[in-house]
Amino acid sequence: MKRILIIGAGGVGGVVVHKCAQVPEVFGEICLASRTVAKCDRLAAQLKRPIRTAAVDADDPKQVVALIRDFKPDLVLNVALPYQDLSIMEACLETGVSYLDTANYEPPNVAKFEYSWQWAYRARYEKANLMALLGCGFDPGVSNIFIAYALKHHFDVIHEVDIMDCNAGSHGKAFATNFNPEINIREITQRGRYFENGAWKETDPLSVHKTFDFPEIGPKEMYLMYHEELESLVKNIPGLKSIRFWMTFGQEYLTHLRVLQNVGMTRIDPVDYEGHQIVPLKFLKAVLPEPSSLGEKYTGKTNIGCMIKGVKDGKPRTYYVYNVCDHAECYKEVKAQAISYTTGVPAMIGAKLMLEGKWKKPGIWNTEQFDPDPFMADLARYGLPWVETFL
Ligand code: NDP
Repeated sequence: MKRILIIGAGGVGGVVVHKCAQVPEVFGEICLASRTVAKCDRLAAQLKRPIRTAAVDADDPKQVVALIRDFKPDLVLNVALPYQDLSIMEACLETGVSYLDTANYEPPNVAKFEYSWQWAYRARYEKANLMALLGCGFDPGVSNIFIAYALKHHFDVIHEVDIMDCNAGSHGKAFATNFNPEINIREITQRGRYFENGAWKETDPLSVHKTFDFPEIGPKEMYLMYHEELESLVKNIPGLKSIRFWMTFGQEYLTHLRVLQNVGMTRIDPVDYEGHQIVPLKFLKAVLPEPSSLGEKYTGKTNIGCMIKGVKDGKPRTYYVYNVCDHAECYKEVKAQAISYTTGVPAMIGAKLMLEGKWKKPGIWNTEQFDPDPFMADLARYGLPWVETFL
């Protein structure tokens, strides 16, 4: 039985700790740590078995090192914010513990995310015989694994992929984000970026959109965005010519976002307010609902999947694989909404496969670089069944 340290007690952290607690044969001892220990304690009280909780400011690698030395985990699962990725990876190196996260590093003062900062740790992790698994949520995470699974079982070569993320749920608030508001708004307001015929192309933010008829949901407008898994998939899927990422948004959400942008509330540079330096987006985060608070009234479903085109036995083939998740069902099981659930379950499965030794090699890896079969089997087993069709 192994020991896991989970850092971050927000919406996703809540799901991860519930799901790990449901698998005692792998996760023998659990410690949940976050900046605000009261949030960890609140989550611990919802569980059927005792866990340890701790306060940690993960921006400070020394605090993470001290906590690791005290708890002695076999793995650190980071579901705090992307800002903490590098300090937690440093602490893992110093203490000789493997690492997993769900979102790639972002520098706090530039709205930019890419894997280069974390991939740069490859030689040090290899030398220390440690493993880091990056981006093991749903997208990135399962989206990458869906493509690896398609390549292993259904294609000789994959040429085109559309990753399509639809949330058709309703939380009853005028405006809220489904994961950390700061990270979410930074991502959505970026320029669109996609890979077409072997070259990267850019668009104005959310300027390209089309309707798609999502199974179990119906037709929704989806918008082209840049998303981090595109970067690793272009490198790791041989023969891939084109890949795009799409996400659905309602008109109400887009109108709120446009107004917030127009009045300067999404700025990430500090402004002087009555003698204090305030970052408008951080202030906005403080007044918006926390993602972990949305679950109770959430109804409706998510559908996230990949439309994949390529060639099998000399013939063109189109394959669509997706998961549908119901917000209210998630709340019934783990007191969380489906966005947190679809992120937290894959993070638990990635950790499980690492601790079981099924996914284990020293270095820094993305999820498409491992055998997808045990992961796909566990997805269906632990709450995220998937559907595949040939079109
Ligand atoms: P929340 O804002 O709900 O939770 C973040 C948690 O991290 C909070 O509990 C916060 O603590 C804690 N935290 C923040 N800073 C620190 C710090 N310096 N030290 C310790 N703890 C800290 O966000 P979510 O749970 O919605 O998202 C968590 C992560 O999951 C994000 O990185 C997000 O990008 C990623 N994600 C990935 C997805 C995927 O599919 N791959 C999808 C959705 C999210 P406190 O409350 O005390 O501030």
